[in-house]
Parts: sequence; C-alpha cells; structure tokens
Amino acid sequence: MPDLKRIKDRVAAALEGEQLTAEDAVDLLACEPATPEAEIIRHAAREVALKHSRQGRIWAAIGVDYRPCPRNCRFCSFGAAWRIVTQSEEWSIQQVISAADKFARGGADWITIRTTQDYPHEHICTIARALRAEIADCPKLVINTGEFTLGQAHELYAAGYRVAYHVYRLREGRDTGIDPAARLATLENIRRSPLELAFLVEPVGVEHTVEEIATEMIRARRFGATLTGVMARVPVPGTPLGDLPPVPEERLAHMVAVSRLVAGYTATDICVHPPSELALQAGANVVVVETGAVPRERDAVPREWRGLTIEQAREMLARHYSMVPAG
Ligand code: SF4
Repeated sequence: MPDLKRIKDRVAAALEGEQLTAEDAVDLLACEPATPEAEIIRHAAREVALKHSRQGRIWAAIGVDYRPCPRNCRFCSFGAAWRIVTQSEEWSIQQVISAADKFARGGADWITIRTTQDYPHEHICTIARALRAEIADCPKLVINTGEFTLGQAHELYAAGYRVAYHVYRLREGRDTGIDPAARLATLENIRRSPLELAFLVEPVGVEHTVEEIATEMIRARRFGATLTGVMARVPVPGTPLGDLPPVPEERLAHMVAVSRLVAGYTATDICVHPPSELALQAGANVVVVETGAVPRERDAVPREWRGLTIEQAREMLARHYSMVPAG
C-alpha cells in the first residue's frame, strides 16, 4: 500500500498537468476505496472532470447483430462455444434508424453502432450514410466493430463515423479469441486516420491486477483516446468467467477516478459502465444507454439494457453535471 505522502504528491502532479506514469497508476489503483488516500484521488478526479467540462454526456449504443461468434471470448454471451446464443438475428436498417432517432431526440451525444467482430464493412458504412441522411442534427456517430485497415478507417470516416470505439481488452488473446497484434494494428490505424478514439479499460473483473489495469489506462492515453474510463465485466452465466463476481461499485468508482487522473488533459470525457452514481461523483461524466444485441445478456434487448432509458440517464447525470437540453 503506497503511503499518503506519495499519493498526495502524485495527485498534486496530475492536477498540475503532469502525466502520471504506469507506476503512479499502480500506486493509485492499489489504494483501498474506503481510505483517506482514495478519498483524495476521487476528489482530485472530480476537480479535473470539472476543469475539462461541466457537461454530462450520454453514449447511446445500438447492437446491430446478434449471432454466435467463433472468437469465443470468455466473458461474452455471443461466444459460439458457450451455446447461449444459437440463432442469428440482425436489426434492419429501419430498426437501427428508428432507435437512433429516438436516442438523438432524447439528447444522446454519441450514437454507437456496435457489431460482432466480422460484420461486413460495407454494411457498416451503409448504416452511417443512412443515419446521416435520415436523422436531423445527427449526433456524433461511433463505430464499434472488429478489426479494420487504415484504408477502411478512412472509409468509415467518409461514411460519417467520427469516433471508433476500440480497445485492447484485458488479457487480450487469453480471455479473448483475437490476436493481440491485430488489435494493436487497428488501434494504430485509428491513430493514423481522422477518427477519434474511444477506449475504456474493459472488461474489468475481480481477477485483474492493478498492473494489468494500469497498463490499459496508459495504453488508452498513448493512443490518444479522447474518451476513456472503465467498463466492468458483467458476469454472464454460462460463459467461462460467468461465475466470478462483478467488481464492487466502490472499486469501480475508484478505478474511474484513477482513469480520470491518468488520462489527464488528453481525454475530455470519462465513461463508466455500468452506470454508477459513485463513479459520477469520482470524475466520470458519461453514461451508456444501450439497446439491441448486448454481449452481456443471454437474450436480445428489444428496449434499453437493464431498463435504463435516456431520460433516466439524463436525470442521473444532471445530479452531478449540467446538461444540454434534449432536442
Ligand atoms: S467479444 Fe466480440 S469477438 Fe469476442 S466473442 Fe463476443 S462478439 Fe465475438
């Protein structure tokens, strides 16, 4: 456990704009949430959040396809080997437009189109073009899909996407069925393209060490993520990691606070998922509302995941930040 003096010193450095190192991040993450050290970290994270933006923001996500996936990531309900999802379903473009329009009118700041790993690139581009054509004042479009080349990154931008959500997952290649080098190549392609990067540390579970978590916080900053934060693993019964308990909310909020300080002045926005009041008090300013295919569920989600509507997300954020009125 690092001493209080060192924590105060590192937090003060972060507040002055110094970039924290991986070693600093490990020390901050190692503090137990119920200690004075952690309180100092959360307080500073909130201060940095308010310096960046006093704005709460909503990340709306639409899972377009629901199908057994041969990559068999050990936390994902779509993994074909777990036999949870056995049928394939895909939302029509009209369904995607309708959900996106509802999110846009509700005040979403981003609309994320999320697909399984190998969804066709051309369909992804078609969706963006349709959303831009059909939705007045279309919020920033985000693509969350599998790997893509630099040329495809430019095509995504030309189609209308402005952000790519892409991460190097915790234990990539061990708990996921994706080649870590391929993941890094896509991150590099995003960095070299006009797309912004959104990169949460995920999916965080009780099994991960502070070193592993710190490494991904630094990686997000190194790749220039403008939105970062932490996503906790939601245990899905029937998946290999489904019996491990979730990270306690206090711990999640503490990690969010550290991610705010590590991101420093590189990232504007810090996201927590699942939504957490404690994390919003600790520097997060973004929550996620999602619908459609959700890799944390055994069944498709026809309305909002866990019933969190965009209106409820706004109310939650408004307790901590100012909000732009919904359109
Ligand atoms: S996380 Fe993505 S790549 Fe892994 S099994 Fe699920 S859909 Fe497939």
